Amino acid sequence: MIHTLEEITTNKALKQWLDRFFSRVDTRRTHRGLELYRNRAVTDFQDKIFGFTASVKGSKKYNVSAFFEGVNKAGLPHLDKALFICSCPDDVICCKHVVAAVIHWAVDFDTKKKDVQKLKSSKSSLVNQRFSKAPALKALEKLATKEEPVAFSKESTIDWVFHPPIAEVMDNIHKIVKKGV
Ligand SMILES: [Zn+2]
Repeated sequence: MIHTLEEITTNKALKQWLDRFFSRVDTRRTHRGLELYRNRAVTDFQDKIFGFTASVKGSKKYNVSAFFEGVNKAGLPHLDKALFICSCPDDVICCKHVVAAVIHWAVDFDTKKKDVQKLKSSKSSLVNQRFSKAPALKALEKLATKEEPVAFSKESTIDWVFHPPIAEVMDNIHKIVKKGV
């Protein structure tokens, strides 16, 4: 299976995950699943909060659902807690349709992860270009894109009293309107 894993992904953690997944499927079903994937038999693939759903068309069209519970450090679902269901009559835990759908999911997962990384790097270079002459704005942007959201502690008892100086604000708006800005 190792050479086919290379074909699916270069992500080390994902490869390990797939390796463990394939170790639970017999060789014949693994190869037939891979064949289905290569023949683009997986359609209607949808990421769900609980896992994913997909249709896999072999001799007939079958529905595959995956249920994941929790993720590891690499953001991959715990395989021991994962549940795969297929509507086909094959009476095994992982049929060829599940194999094909899981490969599709893995490629999708890998692509999305790469897209996020691309977005992150392009965004930060854009920020550097735009705000190179405005350090305060740059600092704000940094704060806004920080991983951890800023949260007030639950114990906070501060009452925020905010009285906007309405008259002053209105006055300023009038000035701006008059100037025709
Ligand atoms: Zn099946």
